[in-house]
Amino acid sequence: DLFTELAERQKGSAAATERLRARDAASHVFWPFHSPQFPLMVTEAHGSRILDVDGNTYTDCHLGFGAQALHGHSPEPVVEFVREQLATTTGNGYCTPVEAQLVNLLGEFVPHCEKFAFLNSGTDATAAAIRLARAHTGRRMVAKFEGSLHGVHDLGMHNTAFWYHGHPTTPFPGSAPDGGIERQSALTGVPTADPRDLLVLPNDPVRALELIERHKDELACVLTEAVSSSFPFAEHTVPLLKAVSERCRTLRVPFILDEVLTGFRYGPGGAAEYFGIEADLYCYGKVISGLGIPLSAVGGKAALLDHTQTSGLALTDIGHKTCVQTTHAGNHLALCASYASLRLLHERRDTYYTETRAKVAGVQERLAAFRTGTGIPLRLVGFGDFIGSFGFLEQESYDDYRSFAGAVNPIAFFLLTLMLRRRGFYTLSLPMLFTGGAHSPEDLDALVTAVTDAALELDSH
Ligand code: PMP
Repeated sequence: DLFTELAERQKGSAAATERLRARDAASHVFWPFHSPQFPLMVTEAHGSRILDVDGNTYTDCHLGFGAQALHGHSPEPVVEFVREQLATTTGNGYCTPVEAQLVNLLGEFVPHCEKFAFLNSGTDATAAAIRLARAHTGRRMVAKFEGSLHGVHDLGMHNTAFWYHGHPTTPFPGSAPDGGIERQSALTGVPTADPRDLLVLPNDPVRALELIERHKDELACVLTEAVSSSFPFAEHTVPLLKAVSERCRTLRVPFILDEVLTGFRYGPGGAAEYFGIEADLYCYGKVISGLGIPLSAVGGKAALLDHTQTSGLALTDIGHKTCVQTTHAGNHLALCASYASLRLLHERRDTYYTETRAKVAGVQERLAAFRTGTGIPLRLVGFGDFIGSFGFLEQESYDDYRSFAGAVNPIAFFLLTLMLRRRGFYTLSLPMLFTGGAHSPEDLDALVTAVTDAALELDSH
């Protein structure tokens, strides 16, 4: 019934996307995250609402992979600023006053960053941070925590849990709960890493610290998320990361905090400020962009970022060791959208974070009451206060990503996603749900009702 009903109400989307599919293999709508069976052809998006070609309206809990969660789609002041600036210059390859304004504003949000390098995506940012750390130390080995995702470059995709669990046909090396499976790399195009390049750390603090200590002379950096989309339990990761960051400081191994998901979302200063985690480099993506115009940044210590300053002189003449610059990195349009979007957040920041936290806490409370009342273990797992990664989970918490990933039932989650679609919510088909300032309290009330109704329906089958 569910499949037939969705097929019927999204007929126009299906026809339009089918025509697109013939030529456009890389389009967003065919990614597994977008319920490939029911891709949407969207004609308009404002605030938290999107409208498809069939005339259906949805409340968006996908929100551009979370990049638009803070203000929703096309916030007027940002659109206005970008429109004005576009009339002035579309330039790239030189600085504009907006770049200086953005850097000053970023200094207000993340004063722990002495300098920034602008790039286009979260993937670029983590790749650049790794490059800078390698240039700085002259070493090649990168340590990352299992389950952590850092984008789609080869090292970034190793040992990512949900990519495997939600989508059993796309297992990346090391992603299976029982460890790396060599033959999988040929299927995915991601080679199994050379052990000189990659050290995978467990979530267990004693073993992680031991491994870091053992490889201290080979390590270019330790790269981590504060709270990972594949292991969203801050109570486990935060104490571990504090210990790891201190040990890295003692051993002089650069520590890189990937804030692509958490930056500007957990609080003005991201997870670093919220949890008190100190790093040498921080990677920002998603929320740093405005209007969905791609922008990312690496921020942090000048000693590392200075390795990449561009200049007419040969790199070695001026003591710079490497390059992370790309054609569109930090282009004017993206900087304008970012500046206007962060300025809006800055204006609202006294109330934004407390209000959003209160809204999300309300959702958590209602789901807890639902669990108690029905015995159905539906959870919105805390991802700080702003992002949920939900599913049917028997336990409140899990010790490591393997047991968590093993506990998520991808089929139940997939059906829940489609049931939410039927009830007027657009979500990722990953076990993730984005919310934030984009949603009104009424949106979230309706979301809780839809999620709990869908859970009851699933439970009855
Ligand atoms: N780091 C983290 C923690 C992420 O969640 C993601 C993407 N979801 C990335 C890096 C990569 O960002 P992008 O998709 O912009 O390349």
